[in-house]
Formats: sequence, C-alpha cells, structure tokens
Amino acid sequence: MSKKHIRPRLVFADRDGNIFDHPDLLMLCRKGTEFVQPGPRDLMPLPEGSDIFLLPGRNALGLDPNSGAIEVMDNNPVAAFVCPGHTLTGICAFETPPGVTPLPLFAYGALGFAKGRFWVCANQVDPDPRQKFEEIPQGSIEQGARDWLAAFPENRLVRHLANCALNTCCPAARNLALGRYEAPLPTAQGCNAACLGCISQQPGDSGFPATQSRIGFRPSTLELLQIMRAHAGHESRPIFSFGQGCEGEPLLETSLIAEACRTYRREGGTGTININTNGSLPAAIPDLAGSGLSSIRVSLNSGQEEYYSSYYRPRSYGFTEVKETIREAKSHGLFVSLNYLFFPGLNDTEQEYRAFGGLLEETGPDFIQLRNLNLDPELYLQTLNPVQSPFMGFANFKKRLKKDFPWIRTGYFNPWLG
Ligand code: SF4
Repeated sequence: MSKKHIRPRLVFADRDGNIFDHPDLLMLCRKGTEFVQPGPRDLMPLPEGSDIFLLPGRNALGLDPNSGAIEVMDNNPVAAFVCPGHTLTGICAFETPPGVTPLPLFAYGALGFAKGRFWVCANQVDPDPRQKFEEIPQGSIEQGARDWLAAFPENRLVRHLANCALNTCCPAARNLALGRYEAPLPTAQGCNAACLGCISQQPGDSGFPATQSRIGFRPSTLELLQIMRAHAGHESRPIFSFGQGCEGEPLLETSLIAEACRTYRREGGTGTININTNGSLPAAIPDLAGSGLSSIRVSLNSGQEEYYSSYYRPRSYGFTEVKETIREAKSHGLFVSLNYLFFPGLNDTEQEYRAFGGLLEETGPDFIQLRNLNLDPELYLQTLNPVQSPFMGFANFKKRLKKDFPWIRTGYFNPWLG
C-alpha cells in the first residue's frame, strides 16, 4: 500500500477514554513550535509492541480538509509511545489549558487512522529485536529472575535488577533475566547533571515522577563480576552496559567500573563492555579504555551548547567537556556512539544540522543512536524557547547525515562489537 495517498484522520478520545477516529478532521503533528500535516515519509503503520496513551486535560487538534483550518476539539488527544527501534518524525498535536500538570516522562508520537489501521509519525531506524518481548511468555522472565536470585542470593545488584525486570519491566533487566543481549550494570547513586527529563531522579516540584527508582547502594566489584561472568555464560554475543536509567552518572564510579572491567578481561572475559554517559569527565577515559572497555555512548539533545545546557543543566562540567570526552574516547580506540535525543522540527533544522555536523566533524564518533526525547513536548519547548526555523524532516535529516558523514552508522541500540 503506497503511503503517498494515506491521509490519516484524527484520533481522539472521549471523557470515558473511548478512542475514535474523526469522520472528517485529518491528523496533524507537532514539529518544533508548528502544527503540520504529516508527509508520506513521516508515516508508518503503528508497529507491534507500541502503546497508545490518552493525554488527560488536553484538547486534540485536527485539520479541516476543506478550510485548511486547525480545529481545537473538546476531546482528549491520543498519542503513540512507539516501540524501541523507531524514531518519532512528528509529535502528537494538542493544546493544553493553563494550570494542567506536565505529562509523565514518555515520548508522545502523533497517531492517526486510515485504511482500517493506526498510523504513527515514526520511522524504523534499527531492526534489532533485542527489546521485542511480544512473543516471550512473562513466565520465562519470572523464571529467569528467580534463577538469578537463587544463583546469587547475596548479590544486591541481582536483587535490584530482578526487581527491575519484574516490577518496572525495564527491557535491559528483562533481557538479563532471559540471558540474552545486553546486561545492565548500574553503579552510580549520584550525578553531576540535573537533566530536565531524568528518569531516575526528579525534584519534588517538577510535576511528574521519575519512572525508575535510582539505585541506593554502591555495588562491589564481585557483585558486578558475578553478573558479567554469568551473562557471558548465557549469551554468546554479550554486551555489558554501565550507565542505566536507574542510576546517576557512571563516570563518577570510574575506579569501580575499571576494576570490574580489568578483572573480567584478565580472566579472558569476552564481549562488548559499554558505558552510557553524559560525557562529563574526559579525564576518566584513559583508565576506562585501559581497563578493557569497548565502547562509550555519550548523550546529547543538540549540537548547540545553549540547547544542551538548557536540557542537561550540567553542574560541574559543560559542553566543552562533553566534546573532549568524545575526542578522548576516539583517541583511546573506543567505539563512540552518540545518544542523540531527536525532537522533530528542532533537530532537523538547518541551524541544528550545521551545529551537530560541526560537532561530528570535530569529534568523529562512529555511531548515532536516533532516540526519542521522553518529556512533555510543551515543557521542552518552554525550556529551550527555540527560534523556529525551517525543518527538513527526519527522512531528509538521516539522508544528509549518510551523505555528509559516510563513516558514521545510525541506529538505535548499542552495537555488539565482536
Ligand atoms: S545524566 Fe543521567 S542520571 Fe544524571 S541527571 Fe541526566 S539522566 Fe539523570
């Protein structure tokens, strides 16, 4: 079915939560500060494993195909939380009356209905199935978690991750329970940033909760090693990732992480050892690289310092240190990924492309993970207060990256490096 002629209709919900497609009004999406009709390359059928959210206290926006006017409905908008491996190309279009509390920490994709199915503003950027759980019985995850608890009853980190797998449904912890793909290794209780969308710690007055409970202890080297050794025994292509959603900044625990890596490698441990970080401490890189770390993933929402600082609210470092960390990692032979938090209509503007392109030229990373920003879009725009400039669309953005930076791969997940 060619997408060229797909003009999805608006999807909305009544006050009882029943979801409808509008008989006349067409779907709109937000791109930056604007509301536009999605183009064919913005749309895809809603992929399995995605969730649909009703956004309370807000009004859905639709397009009148006759007048071209934007209609404000007295009904709730409905958004898609698209499954991993997909990047949003357009945000759900809605208006919020004054005094309504911010939305919780998710990414709200624009959703429409046409030809008997839901369509979402998203593109698949990574076919890797590591966070697909539709075909996996919950019992397998529960049994896996119980096996870990039985094998390592004294290991606090195993207890923490078993809880994550069973109660917060963290995909990384579930994979550990299933003995596959990427093992999460949280270590840090503190952080040197205060990201607006931090999922493990939110100030009391933010108006929305952290979605993960931050780790409350410092694991020992042995607790880390027990997990690394056992996971390598289950998964032939193991990936280990320090820097998880349930912790602070792992570079603040460099000595602990380096000791675990060094011991694991010394005893012949294989696989990709990765650290997901805010990139705040370039001085930590030589020790980590020397200890057997394979890769680093540095998180950023923009190539523009002003927008970076508005979102990450760094305390004891700045954009300069982030770039220096990427350069340092490259010079020490690490594989470098950027965790690029993409917001349609902001990250695909010429202004951002120039700044981000400059950063790529300057620092030379290997991989860009095109991720969604999990935050109330209106709060993000209020905070960044961007000057809206023309945007090229996600598909064009990706195409230009490929042409201008052919050595850089794009995707969504930390790659296994052999
Ligand atoms: S760097 Fe990570 S832990 Fe620190 S504030 Fe940001 S999201 Fe939270």
